[in-house]
Amino acid sequence: MQSALQARSKLPDVGTTIFTVIGQLAAEHDALNLSQGAPNFAPDPKLIDGVARAMRDGHNQYAPMAGIDTLREALAQKMETLYGTRYDPADEVTVIASASEGLYSTISALVHPGDEVIYFEPSFDSYAPIVRLQGATPVAIKLSLDDFRVDWDEVAAKITPKTRMIIINTPHNPTATVFDAADVERLKALTRNTDIVILADEVYEHVVFDGAQHQSMARYRELAERSVIVSSFGKSYHVTGWRIGYCLAPAALMNEIRKVHQFMVFSADTPMQYAFVEALAQPESYLGLAAFYQKKRDLLAHALRESRFELLPSEGSFFMLARFRGFSDERDSDFVLRLIRDAQVATIPLSAFYADGTDSGLIRLSFSKDDATLIEGARRLCSI
Ligand code: GLN
Repeated sequence: MQSALQARSKLPDVGTTIFTVIGQLAAEHDALNLSQGAPNFAPDPKLIDGVARAMRDGHNQYAPMAGIDTLREALAQKMETLYGTRYDPADEVTVIASASEGLYSTISALVHPGDEVIYFEPSFDSYAPIVRLQGATPVAIKLSLDDFRVDWDEVAAKITPKTRMIIINTPHNPTATVFDAADVERLKALTRNTDIVILADEVYEHVVFDGAQHQSMARYRELAERSVIVSSFGKSYHVTGWRIGYCLAPAALMNEIRKVHQFMVFSADTPMQYAFVEALAQPESYLGLAAFYQKKRDLLAHALRESRFELLPSEGSFFMLARFRGFSDERDSDFVLRLIRDAQVATIPLSAFYADGTDSGLIRLSFSKDDATLIEGARRLCSI
């Protein structure tokens, strides 16, 4: 439709997200999709039955703004059992309509125009645009190109009186690194006696490999007191399309976050909330997730052992980075297009996770796929 109005974009340099662009290309070229961190296998049928039952039982209208009481209580219980911090279900736990909504509500509620927000690149693509929409400044710190770990000295150098928030993400999308105890100690020391809020994207909390421990901010009293933790049922129960997650924070912060959440979505989907109360009573499901995905990681790595790619270690998340620079000088975005067209396998170019498009010859592979897809995807990648 023609319109004389000018849209006056708030994000003039931002296009459609890479996940949508690659997903469409993959469909056009009938490519196997190892790009999006979305499982292609079914969730537990009991979970689906739980939702259907909740719908039949009449739970089809708005849930309470912060989530149903029983679910907030179950989440508080889970956090206390796993990480030792007791969150008050009344005012420190909120059910959100996806982790994405939680990130948006949190940043929007707590970051003011002129504030600075430190985050680490490569990074999930929504962080910086959300910060900019608040009239605040995203301050990108690049993870080291060798091992994608945080250079905490650089963080110290970039903290200013305007720093309002540090966004962390462990396990990390897209690099598959996880924080260790030393990272936690540096984070504690750098934020002590400041009013910096930590926004902890912990959506892959249950997908930490090789026996390592998830470094939740909720394990550390000092950090929990200044953190907002965002997590996702979608990632932990293979239902990324259900758009439901949860958020934990000290009451004073949560009070502000709820003010935004209530006007953005009001509340998260009702029937899903009832189903997750039942699901949370079976901790085996999420406690088994690390072993489940570690097998998939190992299957993909094994199937790629004869390929020309150099695989980087995956310590957690649904992802693994693969370096092609050893055999091609193409831009990563061109290389990914060639993979889709010629090998019919879709991946994500790492440059998509940098504001300045840093290209180090790496692609991100997602192994949140059934085994047949992983084996066939690897076979196709081996043909390159
Ligand atoms: N978190 C998922 C990924 O990184 C998907 C995100 C999305 O599609 N918005 O692949």
